[in-house]
Amino acid sequence: MLVTTKEMFEKAQKGNYAIPAANFFDFNSARTYVETAEKLNKPLILAFAQAHMEEISLEEAALVGKYLAEKATVPVALHLDHGQDENIIKQAIDLGFSSVMIDASQDPIVKNIKRSKDIAEYAHQHGVVVEAEIGHVGTGNSYEFKETTDTIYTEVEETARFAVETGVDSLAVSIGTAHGEYKGIPKISFERLKEISNVVAIPLVLHGGSSSGDENLSKCAQGGISKINIFTDFIVAGMKSIEKHAPTDLFSLRKYVNEAMAETLTHYYEVFGTK
Ligand SMILES: [Zn+2]
Repeated sequence: MLVTTKEMFEKAQKGNYAIPAANFFDFNSARTYVETAEKLNKPLILAFAQAHMEEISLEEAALVGKYLAEKATVPVALHLDHGQDENIIKQAIDLGFSSVMIDASQDPIVKNIKRSKDIAEYAHQHGVVVEAEIGHVGTGNSYEFKETTDTIYTEVEETARFAVETGVDSLAVSIGTAHGEYKGIPKISFERLKEISNVVAIPLVLHGGSSSGDENLSKCAQGGISKINIFTDFIVAGMKSIEKHAPTDLFSLRKYVNEAMAETLTHYYEVFGTK
């Protein structure tokens, strides 16, 4: 069934586990994630990133996502990932996404609060939940730079203020992960996560989950993170499977990719302890 993340997050917070947000970019990937969730009887956040609108349009993503979520036997939230443009976020809400992210994390804090608050008001009027981001989660290749400075880590007091002033439903925090692949394993600040989860009541979200290390992610899930975003690991697994099996026709190629993506999601359900 198509749901918001409200109830699944409440359960995750109580049970100290995280729910995977799997990024889809076509019908195959979306169906693979939903089928995997159904097979394992787990909740799913089916995420579509604004950045993937070149792969399929927002309208197509809404149709595919809603169709699969509505007929699913498990709770599925249809989530817009990294909405950076108010018009697109509002359009996603109007098209039936049950959850949206406003990513104004690159703006100064005052502007981030204002933009996140405005979207939260619009979304809540439509029964949709909102995720915002504070403290920017960068991309993997600039990761070395991040180790040398604390400023990319989300500030604790600012986060508490942000949650209250914006009225958003969940918050992506920056505690050491990055988007994409890493060279090596990232250094996650569990101390910072603990400090943040002590002062922020709303569910916390971790971006850049791919290749962050199972032990790291498991600790995050148990330590106050309710949603972990995975994208890169799915496409890497798909490519590895193609290399390994060297399929000679398109249908078996698609089958190998789907299987690899299903295995990856199954693996992360275990790592995150999702119930
Ligand atoms: Zn992200």
